Amino acid sequence: MKLVCSICKKQMDYPFEQITHRHIEHELDLVPPNFWEIKDYLPEFEIKFDNDGKIIYPKVGIKTRFKAGNTPLIRYDENVFLKDESVNPTGSFKDRGMENLMNEIILHKKRAISIVSCGSGAISAIFYAKEYGIKSIVFIHKGVSQSSIAQIKNADEVFYSKDFVTSYEDFMKYSLTHKEVFWGFLNTNISYMLGLRSMSYEIIRDIDCVPDVVIIPCGSGMNIVAQNLAFREMYNAGIISKIPKIAVVEILGGNPIKQGFENNMDDWLNIINPIDSKTILSNDTCFNYRKIYDMASRNEAFFISVSDEQIDSFILAHPDYKAKYDYTSISAMAALDAYRKRAKNERIVVVLTCKNRNGGIIYE
Ligand SMILES: [Zn+2]
Repeated sequence: MKLVCSICKKQMDYPFEQITHRHIEHELDLVPPNFWEIKDYLPEFEIKFDNDGKIIYPKVGIKTRFKAGNTPLIRYDENVFLKDESVNPTGSFKDRGMENLMNEIILHKKRAISIVSCGSGAISAIFYAKEYGIKSIVFIHKGVSQSSIAQIKNADEVFYSKDFVTSYEDFMKYSLTHKEVFWGFLNTNISYMLGLRSMSYEIIRDIDCVPDVVIIPCGSGMNIVAQNLAFREMYNAGIISKIPKIAVVEILGGNPIKQGFENNMDDWLNIINPIDSKTILSNDTCFNYRKIYDMASRNEAFFISVSDEQIDSFILAHPDYKAKYDYTSISAMAALDAYRKRAKNERIVVVLTCKNRNGGIIYE
């Protein structure tokens, strides 16, 4: 597979030591944005349909007990479907990218991974790393929920930073000086991203007609980037007749991409003014700022910001969702309520990205 750096246009073979190719002038407190473009894939990353419309998933890595994907597409009402990613092995969509990531670490001949995360990403990585016999080193901050920490303790090493931004700084400092450890930065890792995109192939397989809109919580932005790539691939291959638009869900007040897009700020560094770097880092969406900005420019993405009040009012009307899904997933349901006030008769898929972790998951 060939990658191109969108900043200096240099072409590189993949896998390679991604952390060593840097553009410090585009970094924020040592943390780089995702400036990688894929030139062409290796066949091991290709997803295809066979003649019967069944998906052929790439064979990646060793066989683990924990197969991600093939999650249910649930009919919510006449025009709306829910893609329930909470039933993945560790409870989130992130599992879809982990076999690729772990396989890449093996290809690099490394035996350890560093991860920075507030929860789902670390929980998923720890789980799969154990399966692959890879040591997991996790950076979290003291604000992470108790139920998540209980599971993150299964990592081989855990570093606790005082706050969110410091955890990123500590993670980058550690990863830059520990070359024997694979830099597991999910916000820029290409093979992880390519694993995520199987979700959209399943949606197209399972739905009766191509959706107009797919509502996805923004998170790190990597899921948005991956699903847009999947829809573009299927469109170019003649599998679908149009590219569904992705509704990028952000929380009101924490929506720098929407603000940046509306003010024509096409570089994430421009949004530092008026927003400070700590706010930007704490909204990890921004690592994929440029890619989501470009999607919105092509009219393949748009933004829905929901308030805490809108989310609370959804929960009040649907208390069962609170027990099952995390707050971010519920924000997508609140976004559905808000969006349907202005759009009628559109075919919509809402992605519920993660389960409510208060029940925890069981490690064997
Ligand atoms: Zn470059």
